[in-house]
Amino acid sequence: MTTKISEVKLPSIDELVEGIAKGSMTAVEAVRLCFSRIDEEDATIHAFLSLDREGALTRAREIDAKAAAGETLPALAGVPMGIKDVLVVDGQPATAGSKILEGYRPPYTATAVKRLIDAGAVLLGKLNCDEFAMGSSNENSAYGPVRNPYATDRVPGGSSGGSAAAVAAGMAVATLGTDTGGSIRQPASFCGVVGVLPTYGRVSRYGLIAFASSLDRVGPFATTVRDAAKVLGVIAGHDPMDATSSTEPVPDYLAEIDNGVTGLRLGVPPEYFGEGLDPEVRAAVEATIERLRATGAEIVPVSLPHTRYAVPTYYVIATAEASANLARFDGVRYGYRAANTPTLAGMYHCSREGGFGAEVKRRILLGTYVLSAGYYDAYYKKAQQVRRLLTEDFLKAFDEADAILTPTAPTPAFKLGEKTDDPMAMYLADIYTVTANLAGICGVSVPCGESRSGLPIGLQILGRHFGESTVFRVGQVVERR
Ligand code: GLN
Repeated sequence: MTTKISEVKLPSIDELVEGIAKGSMTAVEAVRLCFSRIDEEDATIHAFLSLDREGALTRAREIDAKAAAGETLPALAGVPMGIKDVLVVDGQPATAGSKILEGYRPPYTATAVKRLIDAGAVLLGKLNCDEFAMGSSNENSAYGPVRNPYATDRVPGGSSGGSAAAVAAGMAVATLGTDTGGSIRQPASFCGVVGVLPTYGRVSRYGLIAFASSLDRVGPFATTVRDAAKVLGVIAGHDPMDATSSTEPVPDYLAEIDNGVTGLRLGVPPEYFGEGLDPEVRAAVEATIERLRATGAEIVPVSLPHTRYAVPTYYVIATAEASANLARFDGVRYGYRAANTPTLAGMYHCSREGGFGAEVKRRILLGTYVLSAGYYDAYYKKAQQVRRLLTEDFLKAFDEADAILTPTAPTPAFKLGEKTDDPMAMYLADIYTVTANLAGICGVSVPCGESRSGLPIGLQILGRHFGESTVFRVGQVVERR
């Protein structure tokens, strides 16, 4: 392993698009640079599950031809990107990190990805993740874990571990991931990159292999807040193919990004700074909050009193929805089918038994249980009621604050294998992130420091529904440290 993170510097989106337009750089060079990084590093990191070398180079040549002809280039012209393997791309593998989808080639492209392509992005390949996005360490991938580029004996976070690691290791300029309970923000924090949780409904879920449909979001990873905001601006917006996608107009996320934090009220909830928070994470986050105060923000205390119910609420709702969403994987329509099963029921049974991994089965069982007659009211309905209370906590807090600051995760990246035998310990890695998914609000994780051993630490900035512009403004100040 030869990566020195400090040496891994790809151009920013603006540098790249302007460079290609001016002729000082080509899209083909950018793509080749990424593939050479992948060839050097990815045998160790294992961020990519599949690559489309031919397709990427063909596409890059098209962009270069446009530039040479003096055409106006679209927003992401020639930007090499990777896509989490839960989003479908026409003709490319789509495994969702599961054996059950091995060999499946979808016949269509997810809306978010289609918008990237229309904006000139070049897709390098599909990125590793926890099976069906269930996990916090990428160790639930049926294709083997991703390693953290900062310390290869550590996890990159999850479930979008490949998306975070690919950006951190300079293998892609930006990537897409998904976040149902923290899967963009937590790996961004562990890998020292920026990760965005857009408001529910902001980005279409069409073409996303569903985990928990009322919580799932699609969002970008990048090395800077500005790049992430740029990608979000491309993928956001109403899509008639997703009934939950919002018609709220998409603002120019770059318009206010450099306005600073003077006059902004930033809330700090004590519920996110309690027991279990690593002292180095606390110190880095508190120092960043002080810096924001010194830069002109007004720091205000806010309370989110129902926070301690968030993890159990999340694991009832997410598993309930997952048990329904995953019913379609029956060995008939997609991917893996068990051989030599004499009956139809036996074929379903053996295909699911052999195709799904342990964590996915655990969640299907749990979700089926909480939805079953007799338990529905006690678990599922109760969880929905608590979800409402958690949302109201945020709505009240946002009367007093324009954004809320918390650690993204309670610890820096942990070691591979450290939590694999203890699902509860793994679930607690999401203690600060699941709340935003339950409430539908937006957020971002921005690097704000490092531990003594050099592991990245992330600050989570949460914003109101459709408050992405404010969150980016704060993130931009944090980043300029
Ligand atoms: N780690 C959480 C889980 O295992 C969140 C996953 C996600 O956001 N997709 O469910």
